[in-house]
Amino acid sequence: MADGAGSNWAGNIVFSADRVHRPATLDELRALVAGSSRVRALGSGHSFNRIADTDGALVSLTELPRTVDVDTAAGTVRVAGGVRYAELARKVHDRGLALHNMASLPHISVAGSVATGTHGSGDASGSLATAVRAVELVTADGDSLTLDRERDADRFPGSVVALGALGVVTSLTLDLVPAFDVRQSVHTGLPLDVLEEHFDAITSAAYSVSLFTDWSAPRFGQVWLKRLAAPAPDSPASESPASDSPEPDFPWAEPATEPMHPVPGMPATYCTEQRGVRGPWHARLPHFRAEFTPSNGEELQSEYLVPRRHAVAALRAVAGLGPVLAPVLQVCEVRTVAADELWLSPAEGRDTVALHFTWIKDTASVVPVITRLEAALEGLDARPHWGKVFTTAPAELRGRYPRMADFLALRAALDPAGKFMNNFLRRLLFED
Ligand SMILES: Cc1cc2nc3c(=O)[nH]c(=O)nc-3n(C[C@H](O)[C@H](O)[C@H](O)COP(=O)(O)OP(=O)(O)OC[C@H]3O[C@@H](n4cnc5c(N)ncnc54)[C@H](O)[C@@H]3O)c2cc1C
Repeated sequence: MADGAGSNWAGNIVFSADRVHRPATLDELRALVAGSSRVRALGSGHSFNRIADTDGALVSLTELPRTVDVDTAAGTVRVAGGVRYAELARKVHDRGLALHNMASLPHISVAGSVATGTHGSGDASGSLATAVRAVELVTADGDSLTLDRERDADRFPGSVVALGALGVVTSLTLDLVPAFDVRQSVHTGLPLDVLEEHFDAITSAAYSVSLFTDWSAPRFGQVWLKRLAAPAPDSPASESPASDSPEPDFPWAEPATEPMHPVPGMPATYCTEQRGVRGPWHARLPHFRAEFTPSNGEELQSEYLVPRRHAVAALRAVAGLGPVLAPVLQVCEVRTVAADELWLSPAEGRDTVALHFTWIKDTASVVPVITRLEAALEGLDARPHWGKVFTTAPAELRGRYPRMADFLALRAALDPAGKFMNNFLRRLLFED
């Protein structure tokens, strides 16, 4: 089956391919890959740049069997590449298990999210890709290859956050944890200088902490705290510190008096439950409800991930640009991500602070601001999110990844003819 390729979720990218191929079996996918000179996998299209694009065969896995095999004894799940987190979360939860974290939106595909290093927030939580223990992919010649965290330690760390450059990921095996409950609360009005002074205490005040500002003033309008709730008597015991109080101990800002949307003035209807109401992990860790599926978005996004030791310097640099940012910014979110060892992960080798920007959907006005922002973050080793809008020079970007040469060697070995390359990656991986 094939249809018109169309555009990404935000509508700012029109794909170059004239159609999307939707193979219904693994054999069909293998034949398509083997018979194409250029091919790229498309996930749920939630990236904001041309990372998923190709002028060859664009392939979606939505018609392949939507496998979600939970192994309760091993505490793992093998999930088909085209499945989205919302669907995966429900099935895993039904078996008494959980993902360690989720992104702000549950509607993104698992394989596409892992490919770009997508993350949630939490001082002790690695990106979503850190749950991956095995990757199954169709490589350039149409063969299936499995790379396992234990058995293939030489190649595995390069094959998880891989930007779609090594092949089409057909399944991922993920580590799970026992299901847990979360209480989400919002606090308002945290001054920047208080955040700077108490940065570690504030980001560790809950399992997952997000700070939101529009930079119209040096102050965070909202702090979202997602706390582990003490295990219910009949649920699997959690070893993490947990609280059963609906209100958190958070002395630095006032509790919100009503449910809130991260973007000032927007209705909270589609946001996950707040006010400390206990609920399952998959209904609290994302900011937005799974029941509400936005088909497109009136926004662009950028994100820069800096080493945690540069957090205060990065916040000051961004605050200094407040008047430049404010006219094109809907909201900025600050999150934390634990270090990992995946070669192209933006959190590779360092505990990380992620500075996210939701812009208005006006590329011409936003891009010059992004360039100013990147100049302000100069010297802070900022790695842009692979799936969002950035203008960082390719050679500089490559220089921020110590294992880039290993990734390039792995890519060359698996795809010597560059079948999975596109213009976006060719420029980033090979040009100045
Ligand atoms: C509203 C919204 C909220 C977001 N929230 C967050 C967030 O909280 N945290 C965060 O870090 N990011 C966030 N993002 C960014 C998003 O998670 C990433 O852009 C992610 O890559 C999107 O996944 P996707 O399935 O849509 O991938 P696509 O955009 O379709 O593809 C991204 C990349 O993955 C590759 N890919 C997709 N499927 C496969 C496959 N089967 N095999 C091999 N390669 C594949 C593509 O080739 C491409 O290179 C958000 C984006 C939006 C629109």
